[in-house]
Amino acid sequence: MSRDPQKEQRIVILGGGSAGWITANTMIHSWADKAVDITLIESPDIGTVGVGEGSTPRLKLFFDSIGVAESDWMPRCNATFKNGISFVNWSTRPGFERYFHPFASQIDQFVTTGFYFNTYVRRRGIEVDAQPDRYFLSARLSANRQGPKPNENFPFAVEYGYHFDAHLVGEYLKDIAKERGVEHVQARVLEVEQAPDGDITGLVTESGETIEGDFFVDCSGFRGALIQKKLEVPFRSFAENLFNDSAVVLPTEQVQNIGSETISTAMKHGWAWEIPLTHRIGNGYVYSSAFCSAEDAETELRAHVSLLDSDVEARHLKMKVGRLEQHWHKNCLAVGLSQGFIEPLEATALNLVCNTVADFVETVDKHGFAGDGRDAFNGRVNGGFEKIRDYIVAHYVLNSRRDTEYWRQNAQNRNLSDTLMKILEIWTTGKNLSEEIERQKIQTSYTPMSWYCLLSGYGYYPDLQQVPNAEKYASRVDLGEIDDFVRRCAMNFRAHSEQLGLRGQGLRGQ
Ligand SMILES: Cc1cc2nc3c(=O)[nH]c(=O)nc-3n(C[C@H](O)[C@H](O)[C@H](O)COP(=O)(O)OP(=O)(O)OC[C@H]3O[C@@H](n4cnc5c(N)ncnc54)[C@H](O)[C@@H]3O)c2cc1C
Repeated sequence: MSRDPQKEQRIVILGGGSAGWITANTMIHSWADKAVDITLIESPDIGTVGVGEGSTPRLKLFFDSIGVAESDWMPRCNATFKNGISFVNWSTRPGFERYFHPFASQIDQFVTTGFYFNTYVRRRGIEVDAQPDRYFLSARLSANRQGPKPNENFPFAVEYGYHFDAHLVGEYLKDIAKERGVEHVQARVLEVEQAPDGDITGLVTESGETIEGDFFVDCSGFRGALIQKKLEVPFRSFAENLFNDSAVVLPTEQVQNIGSETISTAMKHGWAWEIPLTHRIGNGYVYSSAFCSAEDAETELRAHVSLLDSDVEARHLKMKVGRLEQHWHKNCLAVGLSQGFIEPLEATALNLVCNTVADFVETVDKHGFAGDGRDAFNGRVNGGFEKIRDYIVAHYVLNSRRDTEYWRQNAQNRNLSDTLMKILEIWTTGKNLSEEIERQKIQTSYTPMSWYCLLSGYGYYPDLQQVPNAEKYASRVDLGEIDDFVRRCAMNFRAHSEQLGLRGQGLRGQ
């Protein structure tokens, strides 16, 4: 292969899934004025995992950072806007059968004090409305099937994520990366060559060609072909507190009035997602194979989405849940499923991908590729995984389903981190949770608002009690005023389908 002799660093990325192309785009954009040469190798025979259709607001930051406009990528990837996630049937507590985890908006600052106060009062056993949905703008927008883009006269920022076709996002990012100078090689890598010190020196393809490099990025998916198989970096499983290891996926038809949220419904042995794209709805059931066969999971999902008698084919996947001990080892960085995976309950995988690559670029800019700054980098990435893991585990601790062995064993599981134990203790003893989250510095992954929504959304409160002067506390927050405020704010937003420019495009009516 011809190489530009002026280029100093030759970076070779193995894998052309979302992780590979996000890595390639971040690097080529960040280092446009540096001497780097980037090659991405992918095997069309192996293919990509092809799922992963929901994001957090972090994906918007990524597209903004590489200078790509929504108006360009969203239509090409059948993408929709996402205000947050509804959790349905996780809690059996009356009034808490569903709740919404909103992405933040600036106007939340006017309601969070009232919301936090009411959760504090309810934690003391006094009856007040401390379910989160009435307080937050994004919850209202989702309930109204409105998108998160305000009219011009609404001066407050609203955060949002996206839903998209994972395959099309990969294709889109590939085109952008190639336009910007990333070399794309389609070949299967069979061998990895190493120097005596263990550094990788080249990847040998099936045709016998060796693609040499100075630095390698493993984006080969669950295989972890470089970092796990060749460099043997240990993998730390999260199976002791996250039981789910399998998924089954099925598409259904989209309706005309497109929703603007992900819906996560608790099932017998896990949970099912419903993700609205412009052309279809993505559905999947994430479950534990220790409690449920693939066949039973498929039948339960088919019944859930009314496809029992349909011949629409389902896809079955296995998931390896956990993380590497080190994400950067020798001259190799792992990004994406090769570095670890946490079940997609809060759609956080691409969040971790974007954070890993952005942190790596910043570390290299400060310290170079040689490895100074590597330990601190690995510590930060591990911290990111642990904080997200704790938040996901909390869903399994706080829900109140006990109808199957799966839910009962989840409820009995006490393999909780110290961080999570402390959060639960602070909540149940009525102390200030925001202060604790800041003290533990965990707000970088989930803010106090997210934790308050999670704990209160499941109705994780004591039974109601007789408390002296209870009415004095109960009447401090005027819910009528909050309802009115959120309703008036929501008037500045249009229907989601309209924001996507999709009116009357032949979707099935509701
Ligand atoms: C059930 C499920 C649901 C998910 N939902 C979400 C979600 O809602 N939100 C979210 O953010 N994430 C989600 N994810 C995660 C998301 O799918 C992945 O993080 C994302 O797609 C990145 O995958 P990847 O690029 O690391 O791996 P892959 O897509 O598997 O890509 C691997 C690449 O490596 C190449 N490759 C491997 N070995 C070789 C070789 N020897 N030679 C050449 N090429 C090779 C393959 O050809 C492919 O191009 C989900 C994952 C699963 C399993």
